[in-house]
Amino acid sequence: MISFKNISKSYQIGDQEVNALKNVSFEIEQGEFTVILGPSGSGKSTALNILGGIDKATSGTFLFDGVAINALSDAKLSDYRRDIVGFVFQFYNLIPSLTALENVGIAAQLTGNQALAAPFLESVGLSHRKNNFPAQLSGGEMQRVSIARALAKKPKLLLCDEPTGALDSVTGLKIIDILRKASESSDTAVVMVTHNAEFAQLAHKVIRLHDGEVATIEKNSGPAALSEVNIS
Ligand code: ATP
Ligand code: MG
Repeated sequence: MISFKNISKSYQIGDQEVNALKNVSFEIEQGEFTVILGPSGSGKSTALNILGGIDKATSGTFLFDGVAINALSDAKLSDYRRDIVGFVFQFYNLIPSLTALENVGIAAQLTGNQALAAPFLESVGLSHRKNNFPAQLSGGEMQRVSIARALAKKPKLLLCDEPTGALDSVTGLKIIDILRKASESSDTAVVMVTHNAEFAQLAHKVIRLHDGEVATIEKNSGPAALSEVNIS
């Protein structure tokens, strides 16, 4: 479904060149929950932004269902972002003046048709909070709303940059369980960036980046269940 082949990305800052990614290659399959792991500055967000069509690789080939995304025109890239990709961010990015249900509806343009948005809120266990505003929700609840909002777009690819970064580890694990279930129950590939190695136990695939390069790729056909994970 997704193939990264020798992807490199460099940024020019003044006369200094930063090589954020160096010949990174990996594959991601439909329905797979992939974790990109690595220390700060290792290139995780850069890889995610290229996957999401927010940023373009300097060299290499990025194929999505056989289409070379890095060769698309700006208009086609914008279609890709809108129709294929969903994003979940560390700080939720909910609209404060809209209720939980309205926030879910807005991304999928389901506004005015709350019945269509409701199942997505239900899928993250938050039906009872549908009329609450973001300020009336906990961090974990806000992140669940933002996941429901992303899923309501029915993305083929759901990209999550440190979605648990602002949460305690128990709440973070619950969020990850929701993301993995979303990947398993639909044809969505979920890619999550984290610097927390403990979360990798729950993934089908773990791509470790170090200093812009792939250190290891591990496949895990039987990832741990939530109840089996010991987290410090
Ligand atoms: P963190 O865990 O801190 O979020 P990361 O693994 O996501 O780190 P990236 O944000 O991908 O790391 O950054 C990789 C390298 O590329 C870093 O050296 C960073 O300074 C550099 N970089 C990232 N984005 C840009 C940019 N827009 N312009 C210049 N340099 C950038
Ligand atoms: Mg980052």
